[in-house]
Amino acid sequence: MTRLTAISNVVISHAPTPLEKLTNLSAALGVNIFVKRDDCTGLAGGGNKTRKLEYLLADAQNLGADTLVTIGGIQSNHARQTAAAAAKFSMGCELVLEDVEGTPKQDYYQNGNALINRLCHANTHLVPEGSTMDECVEQLLNKLNKQGKKPYFIPMGGSNELGSLGYVECAREIVQQTQQQDLSLDHIVVATGSGGTQAGLLAGFIAQKQTTPVLGICVSRSGAEQQHIVEPLLQQTLALLDLDRDLGIGHVHANGNYYGAGYGITTEQTREAIKRVAALEGILLDPVYTGKAMAGLIDLCEQGEFAQGQNILFIHTGGSQGLFAYQQEF
Ligand SMILES: *Cc1c(COP(=O)(O)O)cnc(C)c1O
Repeated sequence: MTRLTAISNVVISHAPTPLEKLTNLSAALGVNIFVKRDDCTGLAGGGNKTRKLEYLLADAQNLGADTLVTIGGIQSNHARQTAAAAAKFSMGCELVLEDVEGTPKQDYYQNGNALINRLCHANTHLVPEGSTMDECVEQLLNKLNKQGKKPYFIPMGGSNELGSLGYVECAREIVQQTQQQDLSLDHIVVATGSGGTQAGLLAGFIAQKQTTPVLGICVSRSGAEQQHIVEPLLQQTLALLDLDRDLGIGHVHANGNYYGAGYGITTEQTREAIKRVAALEGILLDPVYTGKAMAGLIDLCEQGEFAQGQNILFIHTGGSQGLFAYQQEF
């Protein structure tokens, strides 16, 4: 683990984030639900991308970059946290964002994460119809280079092996906190999209020889497709930690039963889960990721997949800023 501290010299997140019990939800479901509050990492509202950005920013600084470039949907939480990190480190920020079909339109373009991007002085480039995101990024990088800038490109969701190191660190916190609280976890549940969060958590647990299963609830694709994204990333992350890549085989579990019609499109179950957790716990989930993951967790409890009395840790990866873009659905 010493190598990790050597890689990141950038500290942004308010870590360790709390690990606390959701007493009312636990009573309602008959299982013990705990939450890791990574919605409280601090960067312009926080969320899981902040931990990844610590490692990505360190790399950008080492390379002498002056501008962060990244991609996502218009309401990307990752783009918003990147914009905030760029502001904090006095760097430029260029966001290449695409519209997401099937999302509500009333507040989608200007409110929520889009508003915060503007406040942090990020430049947004919308992918025009008939053009691809890759083409847009290539043109933008060429333009920035011609202007004498030094851009640093961060992939979708900050999900490469470097970004995943942020969740290796989170796994270390979880092991420490559960030991302090004398808590033995039966399952960990997390929303999984670009995959770096689940890959990093698994790499971190494997590195510490912990075997608690980490179930990813897919937000945009089938379990099998998601596994094909997360497993290679887990192996690359293990390699970066000087561990055997093969240790990652067979650990990626992903459930594709809760994403509905696609990325960014809420389901009835998602909206119910968001309302229920707000009303019972005063905790805000989000319409794109954690609402779907919580809908999955609740359903798996009700189906008896998670047995009465078990200890389940839900990773709250943030995103509630996106609620303001979806207000008409509530
Ligand atoms: C990006 C994001 C996720 C998914 O994390 P990945 O590392 O992309 O799988 C989950 N929750 C929220 C709120 C996010 O913004």
